[in-house]
Amino acid sequence: MRRGARSRLGLLAAASLALLAVPLAAEETVRIAVAQVRDQISLAGPELVVTDPAAGEVVQRGGPALVAPTDQGIAVGGRVVAATRLVAQSSGAITVRGLALEREVEVFREIRGGRPEIVIVHTVPIEAYVAATVSAEMPASFPAEALKAQAVVTRTFAIFRKFNAPERPYHMEAGVIDQVFGGTQRISESARAATVATAGEVLTFGRQPVRAYYHSCCAGHTESAREGWGQALPYLPGVKCPYDGDCPSQQYTARIPLARLARALLVTRVKIKRIASVKIADRTATGRVARIAIETDRGRIEISGEDLRRLVGYDVVKSRLFDLSIEGDVLVVTGRGSGHGVGLCQWGARGLALKQRTYDAILGHYFPRTKIMKMY
Ligand SMILES: [Zn+2]
Repeated sequence: MRRGARSRLGLLAAASLALLAVPLAAEETVRIAVAQVRDQISLAGPELVVTDPAAGEVVQRGGPALVAPTDQGIAVGGRVVAATRLVAQSSGAITVRGLALEREVEVFREIRGGRPEIVIVHTVPIEAYVAATVSAEMPASFPAEALKAQAVVTRTFAIFRKFNAPERPYHMEAGVIDQVFGGTQRISESARAATVATAGEVLTFGRQPVRAYYHSCCAGHTESAREGWGQALPYLPGVKCPYDGDCPSQQYTARIPLARLARALLVTRVKIKRIASVKIADRTATGRVARIAIETDRGRIEISGEDLRRLVGYDVVKSRLFDLSIEGDVLVVTGRGSGHGVGLCQWGARGLALKQRTYDAILGHYFPRTKIMKMY
C-alpha cells in the first residue's frame, strides 16, 4: 500500500503543471465519476432521454433507464447499443443511487481488470463542485473562516486533479478516496457563502497548486507528507495543532477479534490459524504507527499502520495514532484523532477560527510557505 501510494504521487509530480501557464476561467468544470458498476444501474428523472451521440440516435425516451455493461457495448433496458458513451438528459434532476444530479450525465463503458464496467460521469462547474463538497466534507455549523479555509483546499484539490488526471473520462471519484461529493442540490448556506467569499482562490507553492490534503482531526500534531505519504513536500512539514480539542474522535477505542484480523490478513496471501501477538514495531516522529509486527503460526508478518486501517475499516481504526493491547482473543486499539493527519486539520481550523484567525492565517498554519492565488 505504501509503495502504491508513493508511485502514484511520483506520477502526479512528474505531471505537475506550471499553473500560470494554464488559463483558468470562472466557468471551468470538473468531471466526477459518481458511480462505477459491473452490473446494472438505474438512471431516473423527469422526461429522461438517453441518446447515442456518435450515432445521433435516441436510445430510450422516458425513464427510468436501466443501463449495464456488456461485451458488445452498453445495454439500455435490455437492448444492447454498440457504443462506449451515451448521454442521459432530463428536464429536472437525474437520480443515480440516491444522488440527485442536475440535468445531464454521461454513461461510459470502460474495461477495467479485463471486464467491462459502466462509469456514470457528471460534469459540474468548479465553484458548484466546491460548494457541494464543502457541504459534504465539513459541518455547516463550523465557523465561516474554517469553511473558507476548507473551500480553498477543496478547490485546490479539484484543480490539481483536473490538470493531473490520467487518461480517463473523469477527473475525480465521488467517494472518500477523492472528496465526498453529494450533488449540488443540497448545498448548505454557510458552505455556499464560504465558496463565494473565496471564489477562484487556490493554495499554491512555487506558483503551482499544492497537494491540498485534509483530514478531520490530527489530535495535537499534523503528520508530515514525508512520513504520511513517503514523499517530502516543503509545505507539509507537520505542524503543532493545539486547537482541535473539541474533536469528537479525540479518543476512541476499537475492539477487533483476532479471528477477524486473521481473516483480513488473507489479502497478504497467508492463511493464518493463530495470532500470538500484535505489537507496534515503529512509529513516526509524531507518534503515529508506521509498522506493526504480527506473530502468527505462519511466522512474523509486518504491515503498516495504514494497512491496519484499510484492512479492518477506516471508521474502526480512525487514525494512525494508537496503542495496541490484546485482551483474551481481542485486539484493543486505543487511539486519538481521525483521518490520516496530513494537511489541514478540520477541527483545528475550527479551533483557530474560534480564536478569530482568518482563513488565510489558518491555511498558512497548516501549509506553511504557501500563497493564496486568485485564478479567476
Ligand atoms: Zn489538529
